[in-house]
Order: sequence, then structure tokens, then C-alpha cells
Amino acid sequence: MRAEIIAVGTELLLGQIVNSNAQFLSRQCAGIGVDVYFQTVVGDNAGRIRDALELAKSRADLIICTGGLGPTQDDLTKEVLAVYLTRKQHIQEEAMNKIRSLFEARGAEMVESNIKQAIVLEGSDPLPNETGLAVGVALTQNGTHYMLLPGPPKEMKPMFEKHGIPWIRKRMTDETPLYSRMLKFAGIGESNLEHALLDLIEGQQDPTIAPYAKEGEVTIRLTTRAASEQEAWAKIKPAQQEIEKRVGRHLYAEEDIPIEQAVFRILRSRERTLSAAESCTGGLFSDMFTDIPESSTVFKGSIVSYTNEVKHNVLKVPLELLEGEHAPGAVSEETAAAMAAGAMEATGSDYAAAITGVAGPGPSEGKPVGLVFLGIAERNKPAKVIRIQASGNRESIKWRAAKAAYYHLWL
Ligand code: ATP
Ligand code: MG
Repeated sequence: MRAEIIAVGTELLLGQIVNSNAQFLSRQCAGIGVDVYFQTVVGDNAGRIRDALELAKSRADLIICTGGLGPTQDDLTKEVLAVYLTRKQHIQEEAMNKIRSLFEARGAEMVESNIKQAIVLEGSDPLPNETGLAVGVALTQNGTHYMLLPGPPKEMKPMFEKHGIPWIRKRMTDETPLYSRMLKFAGIGESNLEHALLDLIEGQQDPTIAPYAKEGEVTIRLTTRAASEQEAWAKIKPAQQEIEKRVGRHLYAEEDIPIEQAVFRILRSRERTLSAAESCTGGLFSDMFTDIPESSTVFKGSIVSYTNEVKHNVLKVPLELLEGEHAPGAVSEETAAAMAAGAMEATGSDYAAAITGVAGPGPSEGKPVGLVFLGIAERNKPAKVIRIQASGNRESIKWRAAKAAYYHLWL
């Protein structure tokens, strides 16, 4: 099946937002064996959206649009497709009830334009929106499949994963579908991981084994064609077992979740709490964790102790560690341990992570850029301290330091 992704939105053309939806959808399509041949971006303009559809129809079997399902004037995607395919539009009751009850609960007046979000095309399959209001649409006409998804990634992603993919799979009848499993690794670089698995990667046939890296995390995708999910997992299992035998220590999840989410799941299941003391990461560690829904059940809080003053006054790091000719300094093993203990004390958490390092661009305290100490504290146990030497620019050092702290918490 050949696909084209059309991202709708003038914001995209103006460079105000990045087209991350296209990246996400392309990756998802690759995972199920749909070949994406084109990605298009078009503004909020009826005529040009129509042109984009017309061109896509000439070269794709599946057209996936994102954006423009909202209530405002510039949200046109559904209307344009309805006119293009000469299909009537009607209100989907379930979506309409959801919108109504939401406005009632808020005690707000529903405006006419909100009805738009409950509209579907005649003869289409509605794709429920579990994280927002605008209902998605999927339909087939003259052999071409069309799918309309909302623009906001937090609505688009769950809709596509939960409802879009099964809808597409059902229409891939002439092909044996692809199934893939993501294995996620932390605490090991891409080249080391590849090295450990080189003979498997080179000799691979079925399933295929593809490693790729994002900062601080490595993913291996195992992919196979199979008639059913069950058959697919049976084929993937032996390859996965061999991989686990070699690098299982670094394997933190069998699905595409970030390391902080794996940490969250463990702590929550054990009913344990976490806090943080951050210096060079400036709150990034805490930001990552609080992106996880329900993180409040685990995360007590954090102290961004950027200066020595705050490290001492709030986290009770002894001055002797921070100041003076022979002091180990803010970026040191001793300070990392004291920061972690201080965060645990200040918040009453069961675990704490502390991060102190040199994010660059220049050295600090005579210490090189990228040197980071992590303090991992657990109640009633001595704190663990880990020294890492991260590479890259300021942003990627911060990112790697935060990810490494999660890896050592996970261990
Ligand atoms: P809304 O109900 O919020 O209006 P919508 O389905 O009409 O949603 P748009 O109005 O096109 O979608 O975009 C809403 C927001 O979704 C954008 O401001 C942007 O934050 C995000 N968004 C839209 N398209 C993309 C994209 N291709 N990649 C990443 N983010 C996007
Ligand atoms: Mg909109």
C-alpha cells in the first residue's frame, strides 16, 4: 500500500511549528508495512487543500491528512474532503454528546462552531477522539482510502495508534501485514549495542533487526510479516531472546516508551515516591517526568539548585564541599550525593536523583564540558554516585544527563 501524508496548516508553512505529525505517521506506517511515498504540507486554504488531495489521489492508495478538524474558521479539512468526494456531512451523535457534556460540565455556553468537531462524512467510519473533541474520519472511495486526523499531536497520536492502524490493517488484505516490536535500551550507546549484535544484524532475514538512536536512548525494531499477531510474536520471540541474552541488562521496555516512563511504572507499582535536585539540567529531568500522566502519584517535587547558595541553603549541601581552595566543588561526587540526600530530606521522598555537571560551552571550576555527576539516593541506603562524560552541545549534554539519571534510577 502506497501512502501520502498531507499536513494541513499555515503555521507549518510559516515555520512556526515543526511538522512532527508527518514524522510520527511515517514511522508508524513503516512499522505496519505501508510505504509512504510523499509528505505534503499545505496551508489552511480550501482551493490548495483540494489541489493537494487531487495530486495525492493520483499517486497514493492511502491519504492521511492531519490538522484542520477544529472549530475555527480556518479549519477546513473535513468540508473540503466532503465537497471533493461529493459526500454529505452529518453530525455524529456520540461525538456531539461528548462535546455537549463537556460544555455543561464547564458551565460554559456551547457555540455553533463546536458542532463542526462532531461532523463526519456520509458513509465514513468515525475515529473516536479520546483526548480531545474533534472526531476523525476514515473512508474509501473508488479504491482510495482517506483518513482525517486532528492536528494536535496529543489527539492525533492516540487516535491513529488505537483506531487508525487497525482500520488500515483491515484494508491491507492483499498483503501479509508487517508487525514490529520495539525494544528500548538505555545506558548503552548505539555503536556498542550494534557491536554486541553485529552478527545478528548482518545475518538477519526474518525478523529484520533495525537499530536506531535518539539522544540517550537506543531502539531496536524487530519486524516480520505474518498472517496474525500471534504468528508474528512467535517469529519475533527467538530473536528477542538472543538479544536479551547479550544486552538484556540495558533493555528497559518492550514498547516505545521513554526511560522516564519505565521508571514511573516501577515506582508507582511499588508505591514509592521520587524527587530531584537539578543543577546543570535546570529542571529538564523534572519536566520529562511531569510529562507523564499521573506522575503526581510518584513525583514529590524538585529543587533547581543552580547556585551554590541554593545548594547550601535549600539542599543543605555543606559549604566545605562547595567553597574554598580544597573543596571538591559544585561539580563533584560529594556534592551530587549531598544534593540527592538534601532533596530526599526536603521533600520526604523515597528516592531522589541529583544532577550536577558542566553543560558548557566553557569549562567550569576547571572541569571539562560534559562532566556530570549523578547522585541516586534511596531512603536508608548510602547514595550511589555515577560520573559520566557526555558529549555534544549544551542542549544535548543536559538531555543526556537527565536520561542517564533515569537509567541509574531504573537500575
Ligand atoms: P484544533 O481543534 O486545536 O484547532 P485542528 O485539528 O484544527 O485542531 P490545527 O488547527 O491544524 O488542528 O492545529 C492545531 C495545533 O496542532 C497546532 O497549533 C499545532 O500545535 C498542532 N499541529 C497541527 N499540525 C501539526 C503537525 N503537522 N505537526 C505537529 N503539530 C501540529
Ligand atoms: Mg484548528
